Amino acid sequence: MTDTNTADITATIDNAFERLSRSLLDALAARDKPHRRTAKVPGGEMIITLTAEEATAWDADPDAAAAKRFGLNTAEFDAWVALDGGRRCGASTDAGPCSNLIGPLFMSAADWKACHHNARCPKHA
Ligand SMILES: [Zn+2]
Repeated sequence: MTDTNTADITATIDNAFERLSRSLLDALAARDKPHRRTAKVPGGEMIITLTAEEATAWDADPDAAAAKRFGLNTAEFDAWVALDGGRRCGASTDAGPCSNLIGPLFMSAADWKACHHNARCPKHA
């Protein structure tokens, strides 16, 4: 083996190693990059950080993913946001369910879910 061949082989190995290192660093950078999305919440929006897997699900169906994120189904999530985190009275009336809104607003999703339609407005207390 000549010195030239040895130098070529060494250069080839160096190049391959450099390419491998670079692709590994690119993969790590992509994995660690935060996946941020904007979620509707009572009163506005908030930025949430997702895993790569959650971000994929989010992009496929944002409403369903947001609902799941807050422990609600899609209909509950829509109501929670639309009512600004306030709950509705659960009393039945001749005209159907009472639709009076009961404060406070901006309840957490879990608190809201526990008492939406499960509380009474002053009229039905
Ligand atoms: Zn009521």
